[in-house]
Amino acid sequence: MSRLYKKSQPGGHMSYDFDLFVIGAGSGGIATARRAAEYGAKVGIAEFDRLGGTCVNRGCVPKKLMVYASHFPDLFEDAQGYGWSPVKSSLDWEKMITAVNNEVIRLNGIYQNMLDKSKVELLEGHGKFVDAHTIVVGERQVTADKILIAVGGHPIKPNILGIEHAITSDDIFHLKEQPKRMVILGGGYIGSEFACILNGMGTEVTQVIRGDKILRGFDDDLRTEIHQAMGNHGIKIINNSELIAIEKDSEGVKVTVRGSAESEETVVVDVVSLAAVGRKPNTQNLGLENTKVKRHDGAIVVDKYSQTAEESIYAVGDCTDNINLTPVAINEGRALADTLFGGKSRFMSYENIPTAIFTTPEAATVGLTEAEAREKYGDAVKIYRTRFRPMYYTLAGKDEKTMMKLVVDQNTDKVLGAHMVGTSSAEIIQGVAIAVKMGATKANFDATVGIHPTSAEEFVTMR
Ligand SMILES: Cc1cc2nc3c(=O)[nH]c(=O)nc-3n(C[C@H](O)[C@H](O)[C@H](O)COP(=O)(O)OP(=O)(O)OC[C@H]3O[C@@H](n4cnc5c(N)ncnc54)[C@H](O)[C@@H]3O)c2cc1C
Repeated sequence: MSRLYKKSQPGGHMSYDFDLFVIGAGSGGIATARRAAEYGAKVGIAEFDRLGGTCVNRGCVPKKLMVYASHFPDLFEDAQGYGWSPVKSSLDWEKMITAVNNEVIRLNGIYQNMLDKSKVELLEGHGKFVDAHTIVVGERQVTADKILIAVGGHPIKPNILGIEHAITSDDIFHLKEQPKRMVILGGGYIGSEFACILNGMGTEVTQVIRGDKILRGFDDDLRTEIHQAMGNHGIKIINNSELIAIEKDSEGVKVTVRGSAESEETVVVDVVSLAAVGRKPNTQNLGLENTKVKRHDGAIVVDKYSQTAEESIYAVGDCTDNINLTPVAINEGRALADTLFGGKSRFMSYENIPTAIFTTPEAATVGLTEAEAREKYGDAVKIYRTRFRPMYYTLAGKDEKTMMKLVVDQNTDKVLGAHMVGTSSAEIIQGVAIAVKMGATKANFDATVGIHPTSAEEFVTMR
C-alpha cells in the first residue's frame, strides 16, 4: 500500500498554515484547490498572473472564440446556396480581439468568485520553495502539510537567426491589427488551428512544418484529410522544412525556409508566429533545489498518484509534461484531492482520452490510431471507414468531405479507436468516447439506432 492511502485530517495539522498549498492557479491548480476545500481542507493558492492559467488566458478559451469568429465568412458564402442574398461583411479585428479579451476578463472574475466561495485563500505573487513544507510568496512565508505544483508551461523560442522578430501563440491574442500575410511555424494541433483561424479571417497564411504532413501522432487518415482540406481552403503548407532565418525590413518580415533538398525559399509576411513548436514547464526559479523533487528535461517527475520524489510534494498538469490538455490537468488534480482529503484513493486513467483539433474542418479522436492498433493487435485489426459529402454542403455547393473511421479488434470485436474529420467532430466524438471508454464492441455500435439525418449516424451504420 502506498503512503498515499492514508487520509490526511483536514484542519488537523495545527503546526502548518495550510493542509494544502497550491502553486499556480491554472486548470489543474484551481480544480485541485476547490476539490480539496470541498472536503474541508484548509487551502491556499499562489498566482502571480491572471486566474485561470494558460487555458483561460492564452489557450483553449480565447482560441475557440477566435475559431468561431473565423467561421463566419464560410457561413455567409454557404447561405447563398440556401437562397440568402450575398452578405457583405468585413472583420473589425480590434473589435473581435477586444470582445475575446473581455470574455477572458469575465472568466477571471468567475474564477475569483469560485475561489472565494470555496474559501481558498489566494496569495498574489510568485511562489517558491524554501523547504518541503514551506513556500515563500512575495513577502509572505507560509507552511503546508501538502504542496501541489501546478505551474504549467510557457512557449519557448528556438535558436534561429532573427527570432526576436517572431511572436508566440501568447501574442496572437493581443495583435493590434490583423496581419495580411503570416507565417506560422509548427505542424502540431496549435499551429494548425491558428493557421485555420487566421486563414478563415482572411489572412494569407503559410504554415511551415518539419514533417511531410501536419499533426504527427494522430491517425494517418485524419492527418491526410485535414492537410488536404487546409490546402483547399488556401493555406500554403511548406512541408519537410525548417525556418532558418528571420529578417525585418521595410517590406515586412522576411522568413527563410530550408527544405530537405537544401533548397531555400523566402516568404515575406507581416507577422511570423511560433505555435507551440516548443513549450517548457515553468519549473525554473521555483526553489526546487531546496526539495528532493526530481525533474526530467525540466518536467517534474511524478508517480501515478502525482507524487514527486519528495513525500509532501505533488505535481499535476503541463509542468509534468505528460499529456498537455486542460481536462487531464483537472482530472489529475481532482484524483489527487480525492486521494489526499476525500478518503477515495484513486489516480487518473490515461487510456482513451478524447481530444479535438479545432481546425477547419474540425477533427476529433479517441483511442488508438490505426497504426498503434496494428502494432498492438496485428492482423486482427479491422478498419471501418466512410468519407462523404455531408448534407449541409449539397446546397452550399461545396465539395467539403467528412471522414469517419473506426478501428476494431476482430478477436474481441472491441472498438479500439474512433476518428472523425468534419463539422462538429468534437461534439460527436465526446459521446463516442463514452462507449469506447466502456469497452463497447462494434456489435454494440451496430445495435444503436442512428439519429437521422445526421453525420453522426454513420458511426452506427458503418459496414
Ligand atoms: C494556444 C493553446 C491552445 C490550447 N488549446 C487547448 C484545447 O483546446 N484543449 C485543451 O484541453 N488544452 C488546450 N491547451 C492546453 C491547456 O491550456 C493546458 O494543458 C492547461 O492549461 C494546463 O493546465 P495547468 O494547470 O497544468 O497549467 P496552466 O493552466 O498553465 O496554469 C499554470 C499557472 O501557474 C502560474 N504559475 C507559474 N509559476 C508560478 C509560480 N512560481 N508562482 C505562482 N504561480 C505560478 C501561471 O501563471 C499559470 O497561471 C492549449 C494550450 C495552448 C498554449
